[in-house]
Amino acid sequence: MPLTGSCHCGAVGYTLDGDKPDSAMACNCSICRRKGYLLHFAPAAQFTAHAAEDATTSYRFNQHRIDHLFCKTCGCAPYSTGTGPDGTAMVAINLRCADDVDLDALTVQQHDGASA
Ligand SMILES: [Zn+2]
Repeated sequence: MPLTGSCHCGAVGYTLDGDKPDSAMACNCSICRRKGYLLHFAPAAQFTAHAAEDATTSYRFNQHRIDHLFCKTCGCAPYSTGTGPDGTAMVAINLRCADDVDLDALTVQQHDGASA
């Protein structure tokens, strides 16, 4: 079953091929702790966005390597896009915006991004 998800108003959605994740990363860096992300990383090749061209806005900071995308209408952030250490295009799925994922059942790995 592919993973699907969307923002609150439905303007921004996605499909991710592959099995639904049973774990997630929580990070204490300056943006993750504010947003409350529970992240699942995947190659962008497995990812299809369903959004109008102008539905999202990107927030970039620090090294500007990650597009922290969010819906212009409702403000939810279902995914971010960026590049992995080896240059592969990646997506970071925010599982809080995913469909049919039991957040309480996820194994959450704490990442100390604040010290990175
Ligand atoms: Zn929205």
